[in-house]
Amino acid sequence: MTSQPKRVVVLGSTGSIGESALKVARDIPGRMRVVGLAAHRSAEKLAGQALEFGVRHLALSDGSRHRELGASVPGAEIHAGEEGLVALATLPEADLVLIAIVGTAGLRPALAALEAGKDIAVASKEILVMAGEIVMATAARHGCRVLPVDSEHNAIFQCLEDRDPVSVKRIILTASGGPFRQWPAGRLDGVTVEEALCHPTWVMGRKITIDSATLFNKGLEMIEARWLFGVGMDRVEVVVHPQSIIHSMVEFIDHSVLAQLSKSDMCFPIQYAVTWPERVPNSLEPLDFAKLAKLEFEAPRLADFPALDLARRAGEEGGTLPSVLNAANEVAVAAFLERRISFPAIWKIVARTMEAHTRRDQPGLAEILAADTWAREFASGCVTGS
Ligand code: NDP
Repeated sequence: MTSQPKRVVVLGSTGSIGESALKVARDIPGRMRVVGLAAHRSAEKLAGQALEFGVRHLALSDGSRHRELGASVPGAEIHAGEEGLVALATLPEADLVLIAIVGTAGLRPALAALEAGKDIAVASKEILVMAGEIVMATAARHGCRVLPVDSEHNAIFQCLEDRDPVSVKRIILTASGGPFRQWPAGRLDGVTVEEALCHPTWVMGRKITIDSATLFNKGLEMIEARWLFGVGMDRVEVVVHPQSIIHSMVEFIDHSVLAQLSKSDMCFPIQYAVTWPERVPNSLEPLDFAKLAKLEFEAPRLADFPALDLARRAGEEGGTLPSVLNAANEVAVAAFLERRISFPAIWKIVARTMEAHTRRDQPGLAEILAADTWAREFASGCVTGS
């Protein structure tokens, strides 16, 4: 029996992940049909995508370009603001909602999709860092799946294949190490925005590229893994693997290790999230082992890149602390990109904000959002004062 195409809504379709998702839709049209598209304010790009894929349900979270979009896509139903994202996330004809919005704006639409009984594919790691427990509990309550799109978590998902977490000894996240892997600590003070945006193995959006350079990206992924796979932080480790060919590994209690390998192309994990539990052929480039000169591994430099220890602490203490780490990091990264602070100031501001926070345990959504707002204000004050 041939499967019907999965009907997918892409939130954040104009970004790096969103565009990769549309490449997948072009590549496997019999298995993926795009039924809704949303972005923040890139009206022109969104219109082009809507016309190419014949999509009638569109949303722009910044309502000011709403009319422009309507004029470019006659007959489309256009939604605006956060409510617009929620409307798309709950579209009756959708089977799967891909959350590929940078930052935390995907949280409400993700919860709304789950409450409407839809599976979600999550690229936006920030929402699992902030509210992983709530997202996973909502999914369980409604019998929905949270399919990981982040390449590391998708790799772990493939290695685990729904095995019981008790059989897992360690989850080993691989990290490229970023552009400064071999830089002496003393040079990090002078890192420029251009240098930090120059990732050695992946082409991604600006925020995640800076996070990869500080290693906050890996820190956020440690917390993300903890929720997605139901293991404690003590079973989540990081190893630097500069070639980014092994996307992550799982060591089981019998000390066997399973790994997932492919070229560094986000189309691989996006496709698997869409076609799961099936695998289908595609036009992506396969690995040529004869040309892979070597696969290297090394320990992360924890003292020079404090992001990993800060994230481990946030994940272990839990409560509102991961949300505070995430929000402070977003503010600090934005300030670095605006050239207002130095590169090491990113982790210094995150650390100061975490120190100043009074943690709340077992927070509800309102407390998480309040902690996020508080952390943004506190971190903004640190930026101004630095
Ligand atoms: P980009 O910056 O390239 O794209 C972000 C997308 O989100 C754009 O479509 C943007 O719309 C939209 N957007 C931004 N703010 C809002 C908002 N408030 N409401 C609605 N839409 C919004 O980001 P990436 O694609 O790189 O990353 C997206 C997410 O995926 C991030 O959480 C990142 O950590 C994660 N991720 C990314 C990977 C990658 O390879 N890029 C790998 C793994 C995870 P507009 O164009 O209109 O601004």
